[in-house]
Amino acid sequence: MIGQLVLNVLIKLVAGVFLVTSNICFAEGYYNLLKEIDSLRSIDPLLFSEKFRAIGEHKSEFDREESDFYRYLEGYHLAYRGRLAEALSLQKQLSQQAITKEMRFRALLTVINIEAINQNWNGGLKSLNKALEVLPAIREPKLEALALGIISVFYNQLGQYELGLEYSRRLKNSFDDPRSLCIGELHQFEALLNLASTESTLANSYKSALTLCQKAEERLLELNAHILFGRFLLETKKTPHLAAELFALHYPQVNKVGYAPVILAYQSLQAKAYWQLGMSEPAFELAQAVSQSPAAANTLEALIRANKVLFDYHSANGNSEAALAAYIKYAEADKAYLDEVKTKTLAFQLAQHQSMEQQNKINLLDEKNKVLMVQRQLDKVEQFNSRIMIVVLFCVILGLGTWGWNSLKAQRRLKQMAEYDSLTGLFSRGHFYNLSESAISHALKLGAPVSCVLFDVDRFKGINDKYGHSTGDWALKQVAKQCRNQLREYEIFGRIGGEEFCLILPECDLESAYSVAEKLRKTLAESDTLECGYQFALTASFGVTESLFAGYSLDNLLAQADKAMYKAKHNGRNQVQVFCPASDVAGTKTAPPQVSQATLEAS
Ligand code: GH3
Ligand code: MG
Ligand code: MG
Repeated sequence: MIGQLVLNVLIKLVAGVFLVTSNICFAEGYYNLLKEIDSLRSIDPLLFSEKFRAIGEHKSEFDREESDFYRYLEGYHLAYRGRLAEALSLQKQLSQQAITKEMRFRALLTVINIEAINQNWNGGLKSLNKALEVLPAIREPKLEALALGIISVFYNQLGQYELGLEYSRRLKNSFDDPRSLCIGELHQFEALLNLASTESTLANSYKSALTLCQKAEERLLELNAHILFGRFLLETKKTPHLAAELFALHYPQVNKVGYAPVILAYQSLQAKAYWQLGMSEPAFELAQAVSQSPAAANTLEALIRANKVLFDYHSANGNSEAALAAYIKYAEADKAYLDEVKTKTLAFQLAQHQSMEQQNKINLLDEKNKVLMVQRQLDKVEQFNSRIMIVVLFCVILGLGTWGWNSLKAQRRLKQMAEYDSLTGLFSRGHFYNLSESAISHALKLGAPVSCVLFDVDRFKGINDKYGHSTGDWALKQVAKQCRNQLREYEIFGRIGGEEFCLILPECDLESAYSVAEKLRKTLAESDTLECGYQFALTASFGVTESLFAGYSLDNLLAQADKAMYKAKHNGRNQVQVFCPASDVAGTKTAPPQVSQATLEAS
């Protein structure tokens, strides 16, 4: 009953606190007007209803926040008129749909209050748990204070005094305004009473609550503190005279406030005290007043006390019929009270179970998230590894490519070195032989003639000796260059010895070969050597033959050409000699039959 009383008082307080807490400031519009109307709720409910209806005419002009505020007030309006179900549904909607977090939270707190009035503990606890989740995000200090007050009273009312104590302490310790201190201290006092605290603790807490609530001018809460302490004196300390004294002292104030739950609490406790003190008639009067009050149905504890007094009184007076009637009422109220206690306990256990389940689900989700995180990290590592693989592969391919390219270059260089003479750039001996052989085979297939011109630089040793080896080299390069310039692409020209050169001329008969040799001889003989810094004669001796005499054999061609060249040397150098088969046998003939002697002599 006392819990319920506190709750009812708090419902009224919410209005007042709301007025102070609302720090949303609108320069224009209806917001300030709505705030004013809100302030009337606890002061003048009738004026509140009137003004509320009046502002409702302008509903269509409200912006979103004004509209939320209006609906919030509408919820209160409905609750005052006893339409709790509609009020509850409206505040629930608002607790989800209001545009500001603060208004949603405020509506949620109202939902907790209404659920408590309805004694729907399951619903109240659900909303309470939601409010507890949102609470840390609330930055409006007075709204937080309001929430702490509502939470602590709700827990006390539910019989969860440990939690009631925790939240009332938080309220007391976090805020220093008189109202918060009064509410915090009072709720703490109620929790301590039920947690079997020592008498001195309780006495101090009572005094402190009284002082703070007087300072805050919270008359109703002050009376509530007296009720709590009086009940302690009567029911725990078993000192009915002290209790009766306390109640008697404050009874005028109780009457002045005129709040039914408070009056019923005072009357029932005082009746019990009087009965215990043997003052049966005043006890009966008060108990009778409680029992007959229309408001008593909602204050089970007062009803139990009053009917117990009535039962004792009638029993003592031998009025068994009245005693039985009182006893039935007492038993019914007691049973209802016990049922309510049981319902509260079950509701709390259920809520705890649900929140545990919720926590388990959250933990499970956390675990899943952890697995996902690990998976994501693994994916990242895999991606990283793949990238490394790609880089490694790229490097390997690049390396292989470079290696391949370098080895190709090396091969080319080797080939170049093998196939070409490094000094003159002409075919080397081996390559010259290979090319010549295939050209000769080809000529054989065609039945075409192949000629061979072999020449050797004259007195080359003398050039080396006289002008140096490098001049000798220069001379060799000069010979190669000048001769190459005179030749066709397909004519095979190679350096086959130190200063010995050879030409294979496909599809070329002896006469033509002679002409080629002569042309080369002349070119060399006319060359100017001053370029190298010295002037000297650069001549060569030529030997010529063709397949007609040598057949399609490179060795034969070379041998015959060499013989002819030897002859040219022998005859004085700087001349062309043609191999003559007859003279080969004889050893002296210098020109082929088809080449005129005159031509030969001209050389
Ligand atoms: P001949 O008219 O009888 O041919 O007399 P020659 O001096 O040319 O004959 P020989 O064969 O006695 O001399 C050839 C010289 O060529 C000997 C060698 O030192 C020189 N020689 C061979 N290869 C090279 C070379 O690559 N560079 C230079 N500078 N000299 C070379
Ligand atoms: Mg030689
Ligand atoms: Mg020579």
